[in-house]
Amino acid sequence: VGLAVAFSVTACGSSEKTADKDANATSAAGALIGVTMPTKSSERWIADGNNVKAALEKLGYKVDLQYAENDIPTQVNQIENQITKGAKVLIIASIDGTAITTQLQEAADKHIPVIAYDRLIRNSPNVDYYATFDNYKVGVQQATSLLVGLGLKKEDGSDGTATGPFNIELFAGSPDDNNATFFFNGAMDTLKPYIDKGTLVVKSGQTDFKTVAILRWDPATAQKRMEDLITKTYNGGTKVQGVLSPYDGLSIGILSALKSSGYGTAGQPYPIVTGQDAEVASVKSIIAGEQYATIYKDTRKLAEVTVKMTDAVLKGGKPEVNNTKDYDNGKKVVPSYLLDPVVVYKSNYKSILIDGGYYTEDKLK
Ligand code: BGC
Repeated sequence: VGLAVAFSVTACGSSEKTADKDANATSAAGALIGVTMPTKSSERWIADGNNVKAALEKLGYKVDLQYAENDIPTQVNQIENQITKGAKVLIIASIDGTAITTQLQEAADKHIPVIAYDRLIRNSPNVDYYATFDNYKVGVQQATSLLVGLGLKKEDGSDGTATGPFNIELFAGSPDDNNATFFFNGAMDTLKPYIDKGTLVVKSGQTDFKTVAILRWDPATAQKRMEDLITKTYNGGTKVQGVLSPYDGLSIGILSALKSSGYGTAGQPYPIVTGQDAEVASVKSIIAGEQYATIYKDTRKLAEVTVKMTDAVLKGGKPEVNNTKDYDNGKKVVPSYLLDPVVVYKSNYKSILIDGGYYTEDKLK
């Protein structure tokens, strides 16, 4: 709504339009931008926050950057405070995508545009833009890396020589994070033909999103669920050979449960475990042959796109988007910019992460 108002003034003569733009540009100078991130417990969000802040400051904006340690009321308060402090744009990576409707209404009433960062904010008409990665594709890539690890596919996308059947288990992310469903749907659409043929067997029978979802992406909860699966489903000598994990933090919890039960030895190797975010600990684990793969999302690019959107919005322009159909938040389809995720294996981490300048070699030692 904030934006609709900002744009409605441009529906006049072209010289007035230019004058308007100039006026907007002047009022944009040095404006305060509120940035809220979910948690510091995962490296990616720390990088996201730092990158967005630095890029905004480079353009002369002031930044209020907040982390809420995955606590919803804390994030709600932070957004309230930013509105009170006079923020001119809100950039929000939400914890619960449905919990900030009231704050967004307040923002709209004050004509403050809102940009959803990485995670879609749901059930509110007051979300102006969305910057993210192709979340469905992330899920497809996670499932594909599982198939590659099991030998059913090759890294180049062609079919592998393995025939299975393989026992696998599934994990999904936090049910209040819109991304989690996209990841899971992308993964399940990819795995389903193999499950239908019996090449992949989800031995626990737990294939429903709600059953396999891990609230707040909590590694300890994932570890506990993996321990339970091992005790209840893999107690008679059968082994789990693949685990679909949607986030590196969960993968670490899952691997640790597996290790405690005797996996990770020459006689009993770890199953193929997937991931997401290319966090340092997980890339090290991939190099060590434990975790099998991760999905790299260049947070520098996400920050760049978001900052460009912010700058355009503040100057009365129209941000660039490349998707206007996939992200319906329940109230509207939010115009989005989607970036491309990339699968990282032991075979390509150097060229992608080190040559790409995301990490130095030292950091991964
Ligand atoms: C992000 C993922 C991340 C997960 C847990 C999701 O919303 O898109 O990159 O792994 O949250 O932090």
